[in-house]
Amino acid sequence: MSGRRSQTDGEGEITPIVILIVSLVFGGYVVFERPLDIGATYIWVIILSLSTAGLFYVVWGFNKARRESGMNTAVSWLFTELNGEPQSSSADSTIEKTPSTPERLKNELRLDRADGRCEYCDEAMDFLEVHHIKPRSEGGPNTRNNLIVLCPNCHRKADRGVYSRSELKHKVKQQEAPQEV
Ligand SMILES: [Zn+2]
Repeated sequence: MSGRRSQTDGEGEITPIVILIVSLVFGGYVVFERPLDIGATYIWVIILSLSTAGLFYVVWGFNKARRESGMNTAVSWLFTELNGEPQSSSADSTIEKTPSTPERLKNELRLDRADGRCEYCDEAMDFLEVHHIKPRSEGGPNTRNNLIVLCPNCHRKADRGVYSRSELKHKVKQQEAPQEV
């Protein structure tokens, strides 16, 4: 469903979280254990410098991602392979672009326009759902013309595309038209 890439594809990929762990393990090992078999001081200095640099890089990158795109992107950045394409754009496509429908409007459509019936199959129902004909993920608005009241059965079919959007639009148009007396 989502465009998110699998975390396991590609072998030996280096992600910030790997740099962080390696930096902490090696840096901590050098600082706290002072291994005897590493005699020369300059090797310690090199390992310590690399660990510190790695640590700073991850902290810096994480904060940058968090400032620019928020905590979720920052966390996913930790698991994004270096030089890989940023994930934020692909993650964005799964985010709803339209806020959820106000309850007031839903109730108005359910009770008033639909009169407690599914606007597709006309079955009377207690549990009617409000469906976006043009989905929220595509920027479909919370307007009466884009919303149709459906029973759960019809809602499933609408979601799966069994009912076409134009078919649903037509039903809404009929509902919105002034009632003949
Ligand atoms: Zn129905």
